[in-house]
Amino acid sequence: MKTKPTKSFKADMNLPKLFAQFGSDEKCREQLTSLRWPKGVTCPRCRSKSISTIAERPQYDCNACRYQFSVTSGTIFHDTHLPLSKWFLAIYLMTESKKGMSALQIKRTLCVAYETAWYLCHRIRAAMREINSNLLREVVEVDETYVSGKVRGHGRGYKGNKAIAIGAVQRKGKIRLQVIPNATKQVLHQFIKDNTAPDTEAIYTDEMPAYWGIEDADTKHKWVNHSAEKWVVGDVHTNGIESVWSLLKRSIVGSYHKVSIKHLDAYLDELEHRFNNRKNEYIFRDTLTKLVSAAKLPYAELTNAA
Ligand SMILES: [Zn+2]
Repeated sequence: MKTKPTKSFKADMNLPKLFAQFGSDEKCREQLTSLRWPKGVTCPRCRSKSISTIAERPQYDCNACRYQFSVTSGTIFHDTHLPLSKWFLAIYLMTESKKGMSALQIKRTLCVAYETAWYLCHRIRAAMREINSNLLREVVEVDETYVSGKVRGHGRGYKGNKAIAIGAVQRKGKIRLQVIPNATKQVLHQFIKDNTAPDTEAIYTDEMPAYWGIEDADTKHKWVNHSAEKWVVGDVHTNGIESVWSLLKRSIVGSYHKVSIKHLDAYLDELEHRFNNRKNEYIFRDTLTKLVSAAKLPYAELTNAA
């Protein structure tokens, strides 16, 4: 049995088109089928392509091993028991929203429980992250910034709700963002090691001594002296990563209002994904494909870990 490749995932997706194309469970299933099995429906258990459809319900029957399955079997779509059209809407909102979407906004927009919204956000972010899993290389700027959140009942001087974020950006390329416990040499060097290719040409930072020693035989380290108000020396500057920080701060003010530092990691993830996919016109389709192909992570396991 063969499914025709879909042409519905135009780059210029919008809400009315989303409803027209994915407004019913049947239409969503059709799309997922072509994304999960572009070369025709395959038995998840024995890989056979000899498959019959079951007339009464949206399921398949494997002619080789008699396993009965649906397009969502063994995927996270199956686990949540959420209508597929709500999943599609959540994915659309997460991938297309310019300022980001919080779990609370997803909860309100989709009329689902907060736990469900949180789970959807978590899974969709994880899928988006996998689309951009290559290490940064060539010229990479690294910088850290302090983010302060608001806490009810505390004045502006309250220091308990602050966190440090670190970021790296490849010139004209992708970014990596992360919350770090402190800005020590060990932590900064580990972040750079985890996110850049071993043969990265150059790493540009500010003058902070904790960055010293990051160079090696094929990677240069250069810095600009911010405390001496030197922001650009030739090609050496960190303007790329600094514009990411102003984007982060605007997004926190514009969209989330009250930032709980506890959730800063999630905001950074979201920003990273949107930035890295800003030129990917098919991010909606790519995210759906990841979600329908990835091994499922049971809901209970995920909420226990959080
Ligand atoms: Zn089979």
